[in-house]
Amino acid sequence: MKVRCAICGKEEEINKVHKDYNKLMENPQAVYICQACRIILSSQATREHVSRGKR
Ligand SMILES: [Zn+2]
Repeated sequence: MKVRCAICGKEEEINKVHKDYNKLMENPQAVYICQACRIILSSQATREHVSRGKR
């Protein structure tokens, strides 16, 4: 199944071993985020949390 990352727009082919495969099969409108963007997002979230904690 072909999916497109909602953030960078990169197309990826996923198969049923991918953890989001069932979710995307049931709901084709579900947002897919590629591994690279996931890492960026989680690191941004961590940084935001840290800076907020300093105030
Ligand atoms: Zn991406």
